[in-house]
Amino acid sequence: MSELEEWVRHGNELQRPLLVNKELSQHEKIVVVGGGLSGMCAAYRMATHFPSKQIVLVEKSDRLGGVIQTWKQGEWVCDVAVNAARAHPAVWRLMEDLGLSDEWKPSRSRAQSRWVWLDGSKHKLSLFSLLKIGPFKLRKALKESKSGSKPVSEVLPHIGIADAMTLGIVNDTASNVDADFLIPSATDFGPSSPVKRRKLAKLIAQTYPLFSPKKGSVASLSGGMTVLIDTLQTRLQSLENVEVLFQTSLNNPQAASEHFNLPLSSIVWAAPGMVERFEQTTLSVFAVGYREEDVAHVPFGYGLLIPDQTIPISGILYESDLHASSRAPEGHRLFRVMAPHSRGAFDIESVQTAVQRFMGPAQPVIIESIGVRQIPRFWPGHLQRMAEKELDCSYIGWSYSGVSITHVVDEVERLIERVS
Ligand SMILES: Cc1cc2nc3c(=O)[nH]c(=O)nc-3n(C[C@H](O)[C@H](O)[C@H](O)COP(=O)(O)OP(=O)(O)OC[C@H]3O[C@@H](n4cnc5c(N)ncnc54)[C@H](O)[C@@H]3O)c2cc1C
Repeated sequence: MSELEEWVRHGNELQRPLLVNKELSQHEKIVVVGGGLSGMCAAYRMATHFPSKQIVLVEKSDRLGGVIQTWKQGEWVCDVAVNAARAHPAVWRLMEDLGLSDEWKPSRSRAQSRWVWLDGSKHKLSLFSLLKIGPFKLRKALKESKSGSKPVSEVLPHIGIADAMTLGIVNDTASNVDADFLIPSATDFGPSSPVKRRKLAKLIAQTYPLFSPKKGSVASLSGGMTVLIDTLQTRLQSLENVEVLFQTSLNNPQAASEHFNLPLSSIVWAAPGMVERFEQTTLSVFAVGYREEDVAHVPFGYGLLIPDQTIPISGILYESDLHASSRAPEGHRLFRVMAPHSRGAFDIESVQTAVQRFMGPAQPVIIESIGVRQIPRFWPGHLQRMAEKELDCSYIGWSYSGVSITHVVDEVERLIERVS
C-alpha cells in the first residue's frame, strides 16, 4: 500500500502510534487478553485473515463486550457506554463485514445541536463558541501546543468549554487530559498526511461502504451497540480456529505468556492497565424517560454538557432524538444522564433533582440506574509515553490508542496490515 493509500484508508488515525510487536506475525498461536470490542475485533480479524493460526481470546468476566452493553425495558432502549460512532470508514467496513448493513443507520440530522452549561445558562456549541476564547488567545495556544504533551486546558484556553469537551468524552477535567491523545490533529502529534487535509477528507469520503456520512454526523445500530457485540460473539463462536475463555483473569502480559507457555511476543494485550500511573474515573449512567408533552420546551438535539462541578450530573444525551431507530415508546423521549462519582451525588434522587433543573419540574415516567462504568485516565504526555512504550508484546484498546470506537476498530485493521 502506498503512503497515500494508507492515509486514505486510515486518515488521522495514522498520527497515533501502533503498539504492535513485530514478531507477532511469526506465531501460530496468538493469545488476546481482554474481551471488549478491541479484543473481539482483533480475535475476529486475525482468525479470518490467518485461518491457519489459532487464536485464544481471554476474558476475566462472564461476558464479552467490556464497557459496551445495551439496557432494554419494554420499548425503552439505552446504551450504557458507546451509543454511536463518528464517521470513519473502518467502522463502516466492520459493520458491512459483519452483515449489519441494514441495522447501521445515520443519526437524525435535526439532532445535531449540542449545548454547554456555562455561568448558569445554556449555550449552543458552535464555531462561535471558540470566539469566547478569543481568536488570538486560541491561535497562540494552538501554536504552543505543537510542542506536545500539553493538557487540553492549555490547547483550548476556555476552562468551561475545555472541561465540557473532556468531561463529555473521558469523564475528566481538561487540565488532567492529554491533548495529543484526545485531539492529535490539533496538536500535530505524529506523522502528517502527504496531501492537504481537505483533499484527504474528500478522498476518504469516497471510500465508505453502505452510505457516506454527512459532515459532523454520527451513526448507530438499531437495537443498540449490543447488536455489534452479539454479532461478533456469534462470528467468533463459529470460527474453528478461535477459542474463548471466560472468567480467566491474567494480571499482565508476562502472566499470560507463562499461563499459556508461549513467548511474550505472541500476546495481544487488549485490557486496560499497562500504562504508567494507571488510574480510572467512575461514572453512573441513568436512563430517564419523559412524556413528549412534558418536555416539549426542550429543543431537539444531541445533548447538553455540564462542566459545573457543583451539579451532580456532567451530561444529558438526547437518545431518542439522535438515533434513527426507536429508543422510547410512542409519544415519549429518552435521555441518558451521566453522573461522575467525583461529584459525590450519584444516587437516583440527586440525579432526578439535577435532571429536573434542566428538563423542568415534570416527573419522568421512568428513571433507572443502568450501569456503572470506569474510564481510564489519560494524563498529559500519555500519547508520547505510548509512542515510547517498550513492545514486549502488542497493546491495543482504548487505554493505549484512542478513546472512541473509531480508534480501536481502525487500530485492529492497522494491526492486521502490519502483521500480513
Ligand atoms: C460511558 C461511556 C460512553 C462512551 N461513549 C462512546 C461514544 O459515544 N462513542 C465512542 O466511539 N466511544 C464511546 N465510548 C468508548 C468506547 O466504549 C470504548 O472505546 C471501547 O468500548 C473500548 O473497548 P476496549 O475493548 O478497548 O476496552 P473495554 O471495553 O474496557 O474492554 C476490556 C476488556 O478486558 C477485560 N479485562 C480487563 N482486565 C483483564 C484481565 N486482567 N484479564 C482478562 N480480561 C481482562 C475486561 O473485563 C473487558 O471485557 C464510551 C465509553 C464509556 C464508558
